[in-house]
Amino acid sequence: MLAGKTALENQILDSIEKSEVVGLLQAIIQQRSDFPPGDCRAAVAVIDDALTANGIPFQILTSNTHQPNLIAALPGPAEGPTLLYHAHIDTVAPGDPAMWRHPPFSGVVEDGLIYGRGAGDDKGSVAAQIMALVTLARAGVALNGRLQVAVVADEESGAQQGTRWLRDSQHLKPDFMVVGEQTSNRVAIAERVACGIDLTVFGKSTHGAMTWAGDNAVLKMARVLTWLEQKLLPRLAAKTHSYLPPATLNIGKIQGGLQWNIVPATCKVEMDRRLLPGETRDAAMAEIETLLDEYNATVEPLQYELFSTGTVAPNINTAPDDPFVQCARTALQDVTGQPQELTGYVQTSDGRWFAGDGFPIVIFGPSDPVVGHATDEHVSVEQLVEATRFLTLLALRWRNSM
Ligand SMILES: [Zn+2]
Repeated sequence: MLAGKTALENQILDSIEKSEVVGLLQAIIQQRSDFPPGDCRAAVAVIDDALTANGIPFQILTSNTHQPNLIAALPGPAEGPTLLYHAHIDTVAPGDPAMWRHPPFSGVVEDGLIYGRGAGDDKGSVAAQIMALVTLARAGVALNGRLQVAVVADEESGAQQGTRWLRDSQHLKPDFMVVGEQTSNRVAIAERVACGIDLTVFGKSTHGAMTWAGDNAVLKMARVLTWLEQKLLPRLAAKTHSYLPPATLNIGKIQGGLQWNIVPATCKVEMDRRLLPGETRDAAMAEIETLLDEYNATVEPLQYELFSTGTVAPNINTAPDDPFVQCARTALQDVTGQPQELTGYVQTSDGRWFAGDGFPIVIFGPSDPVVGHATDEHVSVEQLVEATRFLTLLALRWRNSM
């Protein structure tokens, strides 16, 4: 059963102009903010102008010079819970522009699709969240708490100057959060987190003409990887979650040897293990260690080093029956006119830096995750406008219908 929208809700949603939402996204795409260096100043200036024109207060917070974060708030009660809309304005690099259907910083619209680096990941979400805020400011309605929109830098390169810094310095202290990332406009409530693992295999170097006298670490690594592929990957595939793909391991990078005429003494791979909610880094490491030790005991002697890199944040794993989640699901049903099922986010979002803080987090945004970081990245105009309508309605209903 769809609850339906009130006359006031309809009136406010109908005030959203497609051309204005599209125009804002085009203007943000046209200001490059790709990493490296991830200079977001020009793109943030576009948001600054849009907010200033609508009398919406905002702060720009920077921990360095070229990666500004912008936090805007709907004028209203300073007290009370905060609903945070969050999206990142930095992007990955475009790659070879000649490979693109349209120049990557053009924002060209063709057949209902807006093209450009960041169209999906994540400037589409930035535009939808900002336009929701503008729509609510123009409507002059009082919300049941504080609505903040954070446009952050440095998502694609570790969040040290962006979300992590904003959280750790207490500039952002939400009670409810929507992370804008590509979910094709579905309400996602869980995600896996990345755990970087380096594996080094040791052999014995010698002259390339006397292969029998050495122990080739590159060849040994090839055998070890085949072993892991056969033994570990099926186990990971069996680890499941209602809303997420299974646990995975990606062999992302391999390095070994010094030059062609030396038997290599070491070979190293860098791996990306995606952890499901409930999995830990220690357990994931121990699982690999056990298999390598088994290899050593049953196949051939193996000297190795296993090392986990980077910070592993907690998983977003919001309860499906959380009132905020249900409020979001109902709002989406009323915007789309279709029944909506919850889903998971396939990648890993900046929301993870808040995932241990004990409040509900939802991931929602236009565009398919598969186009992010790819050539011909795009978002559909229809999804962009639908996302703006959803974010507007959710803010109107939040806490009233929970
Ligand atoms: Zn993103």
